[in-house]
Amino acid sequence: MRNPFVAPVLLLAGTLALAMPGIQAAELPVIDSHIHYSHDAWSLVPPKDAIAILRKAGLKRAMVSSSNDDGTQMLLAEAPDLIVPVLRPYRNRNDVGSWVRDESVIAHLEQRLKKHRYVGIGEFHAFGADIELPTSTRCGTGSGPG
Ligand SMILES: [Zn+2]
Repeated sequence: MRNPFVAPVLLLAGTLALAMPGIQAAELPVIDSHIHYSHDAWSLVPPKDAIAILRKAGLKRAMVSSSNDDGTQMLLAEAPDLIVPVLRPYRNRNDVGSWVRDESVIAHLEQRLKKHRYVGIGEFHAFGADIELPTSTRCGTGSGPG
């Protein structure tokens, strides 16, 4: 089974080593700023196993978002010292292409924000003028009346 966590961690460690000549990657705390733990990953890699993989990789922090947000919350409950939660505007993969035109996303985000704490909102996809649509601006991404 392909491990969805190992490649980004290795890539990040390699990038850090290249960006900072003279400093070995092993000397730096490894932080992964881009992990998704979405609904289709939970059964393949249960939360306890996912956390074990992240710890084995030597991560000190991991910014996680998920579609829906339950995956992020499961990992956070398992390892609050490791997981840095980020709220994604997607309830499922279908939202990736439609969220900017679906104002029900706003209620979803408001509900999650009332219930949980996050360091940010993302990752999301918006192209061109879509960033000016009401859902985007209400999420704080656009320059519209929000
Ligand atoms: Zn992503």
